[in-house]
Order: sequence, then C-alpha cells, then structure tokens
Amino acid sequence: MKLTLTRINLHSKLVDIGTSAVLPMNICDRFRRDGDGIEDFFSLYAGDDYKDRSHPKDNSCIDSFWVDSICSLNSFNVDPSQDGIRVVTDESTSTKTDDLLSSQGSAIYLTATRINHACDGNCIRVFVGDMMVIRAFRNIKKGQEILFSYVDQFKSLERRQEKLKKHCFVCTCRLCKLDRDEPKEQRDLRQEMKKRFDKSEIRGVLHRPPYKNPNQIKKELSTFISCINQCYEQSNRKELRTDLFFISTAQSHALKVMKETRKAVECHQEQLLSLGCTLDGDLDDALCCSLFVNIFMQLYITTSDQKWLKKSKEAYGACSIGGQETFEECFKKVLMYKALG
Ligand SMILES: [Zn+2]
Repeated sequence: MKLTLTRINLHSKLVDIGTSAVLPMNICDRFRRDGDGIEDFFSLYAGDDYKDRSHPKDNSCIDSFWVDSICSLNSFNVDPSQDGIRVVTDESTSTKTDDLLSSQGSAIYLTATRINHACDGNCIRVFVGDMMVIRAFRNIKKGQEILFSYVDQFKSLERRQEKLKKHCFVCTCRLCKLDRDEPKEQRDLRQEMKKRFDKSEIRGVLHRPPYKNPNQIKKELSTFISCINQCYEQSNRKELRTDLFFISTAQSHALKVMKETRKAVECHQEQLLSLGCTLDGDLDDALCCSLFVNIFMQLYITTSDQKWLKKSKEAYGACSIGGQETFEECFKKVLMYKALG
C-alpha cells in the first residue's frame, strides 16, 4: 500500500499532498539546524497578513504558519523529466500550483520565485536534476521584464484566474485581455470543442501515428479546427489562437502519415502562430525550447529543406544540455525516421 502524506495548508485552506506537504516541515527543520538564508526566505511574499511583519533574523523561533504561507505561494514543482520538451506549462509541471501529485519534489527557488506571471510569458522553466533553468522562447529586449506563467496557458480564462486567485492578483496579460474582449459564448464554445477533442480517441494522434483510418482522423480533426477557427472569426480575434495548438499538432501528425507534406507544414505554422510566433522570423528569434526543435525537425523531415535543419540545430543548441553532441545523436534518429518514411 502506498501512503501519501497530506497536510492542511493554513494559508490556502487547501490540502497539500505529497512533496508539497513535506516542504514546510523540511524548511523548518533546516532553519532550526542552520539559519543560513533565513532572511531571504522570510522576505518572500506570504500574503497580505504577513506584509508588514519582520521575522527574527536568527533561527531562535521559526513561525511555521509563516513558512506554510510562503511555501503555498512560492514553491515550485520539480520535474526533471521536463527538459523543455514542451512549452506547455502543464499543471503537473507548473510552478505554484497545488496539483503536485505527479511531482518528483517541491522546492523554493529564491530568485525564480520573484519572477512575475503572465499567461503568455516570454520564458519557460525546465529542470536539469533539481537545477531550474529559465529559458526564453521569445525575444526579450534589454530592460524588458522576464515573465513566465504560473498556470497552464492552454486552460480557459476562468480556470487560469481561479488558479491565480491565491496569488491575489488578476492577470491582465495579452492572452487574458484577448480572452476578456471576446463574447463568453464564443469562448465556451471553444472550450466545449476542446473538451470533446480531449475525450475523443483521435487525441491519441498526439502520441502515436494514426495508422488506423488516418483519413477519417484527418476529417474529424479538420472539423474541430474549423469550428474553433470559426469561433475566433466570430469574435474577430486574430492573435494567440491558443485553443488551436494541440489540435493543429494532432492534425500535422495525421497529415504526415497521409504524406500530405505541404498541409502538414501549414499545420505546424498554425501551431506556432497559436503561440504568437512565426516561422519566418530570423534565426535570432529566441525560440529556445524543444517544442520548436521538434517542429523544425518535423519540418525538415517533411520538406527536406536544409533551412529547417539549421533552425532546429540553433534552437537545440540554445535549449539543451549537451549541445552539439546531443544534437548529432538526435539527428541520427531523425535520419533513420526519415529513411523509414
Ligand atoms: Zn493572463
């Protein structure tokens, strides 16, 4: 029988499970033994109740409720399996969410926790062991704020705001603004389509090639895509059509199996556009995450155009540990895949 530690978090009034339940206790223990870093830790935001209070600078008395509150608002879910493979701030890998069941650990990162939130941020977090690496996936100009998302940007506006409630702010990022500007019926309709897609068998296309009846899968996916696009058209929304992301990804997989290369490339373009990126930007564009490596690799496989290979190499160098050597290994597999057709 597997036992999971649970603990009621007094700040959020939520039940913490697993590693996030252990974290406050570990921190209290650590500070009891060694007060190093205690000042930095207690300078973190712990909710308005603790705003004007100052903690003793030594470790003579640790306020465990305060520790609890800090952990509740600042802890990160450590997931070393995520090496930037996805740009998705999936809830299982996202920081500061209470969904920590699949986490391999929970920790406070004193610098990273000061980074503010935007659902359409300009960087992502990845883990190498327990080391957190912050990577840009858009160009960040000098002086521009670094932002990442505390929540899954592919969830609905309502779900995102709900998750952000405990941080006591209302997000006004570009994505939230676009969502708010739309009639709710259009957003609900899209959510409905996404739910249907998530429940349908064709979602499996995202993980394995659709060997069975790809034509039918392609048709169904086209219907999903045009319905979602229609909703966006109705609200006259041109930018950040994020609800198309996973469905376009699935469709590009299906089209590749059907050997409809040109259309598969268009779907990849849709994927990038849905995140507000383009394939035509110059190579400086800091598309530094493996998501783009994968897309560029796929584009190379489908078009044999060397420019995608070059882009892929650059993005790979920017995003992965191991650089050139790892890229060569990965590239060998791509060539094998390409040879198999
Ligand atoms: Zn937002």
